Amino acid sequence: MKDHPQPSRRTFLAALPVVTAGLAAPAARGGQGGPHWGMLIDTRRCIACQACTIGCAMENALPVGQFRTTVATYAITTGRGSTGTAMVPRTCNHCEEPPCVPVCPVGATFKREDGAVLVDGDKCVGCAYCVQACPYEARFINHDTGKADKCTFCSHRVEAGLLPACVETCVGGARLFGDLNDAGSEISRRMKAAAGRTSVLKPEAGTRPNVFYIGLDNELDGRVAGESAAEMMWRPARPTQGA
Ligand code: SF4
Ligand code: SF4
Repeated sequence: MKDHPQPSRRTFLAALPVVTAGLAAPAARGGQGGPHWGMLIDTRRCIACQACTIGCAMENALPVGQFRTTVATYAITTGRGSTGTAMVPRTCNHCEEPPCVPVCPVGATFKREDGAVLVDGDKCVGCAYCVQACPYEARFINHDTGKADKCTFCSHRVEAGLLPACVETCVGGARLFGDLNDAGSEISRRMKAAAGRTSVLKPEAGTRPNVFYIGLDNELDGRVAGESAAEMMWRPARPTQGA
């Protein structure tokens, strides 16, 4: 744990003035004054306990069987016949080039200057174009609201100076959330320390995710649904794409 300190509420609260100022007057990415939120997931620390899955569902009052984040567990078989497991916590990647945004016919899905990709529920008509456009299966139509739903990076919590629920509940310290624009933030320091060893899901999609991984098995790099060498063992039921 020494080389990977869990972000504490205390250290996160220390950045509250930055958070508040950033949300009030967000700046463009590139260190021009405001935060740019991101997440770093160390899969080596994930034990697939699903505490994050449930913590998120409780925090965001999601309908039964629908999830904004999940942890997929894969059985890996190498060419030499040895087997192992790989855990892949997944959520919306809050992409820099989010294909879910331009397909929305009413402008309900948008990317905020602080990096979060959000849905304006008042505008959303539940057409599910964005659900189809997302290469990561990160969206669904909420059974209760009939609107598009997805991870928000717990923006309501971040605005209050708190960490996202999934980060707060992760017992293994696998999820790290913070400001990628702040070179002194824990996530920036960890990203720097892991330079050359971080990866994203489906890089070929060109979406430029803001959710990064350490320790992602090469067999899973670029995959999200257990194709090819990875056989999915357990994952919460795929959200129904309809109201
Ligand atoms: Fe949009 Fe999917 Fe990227 Fe999230 S992961 S920003 S829903 S394309
Ligand atoms: Fe836009 Fe809502 Fe349709 Fe998604 S479901 S494309 S957010 S109107």
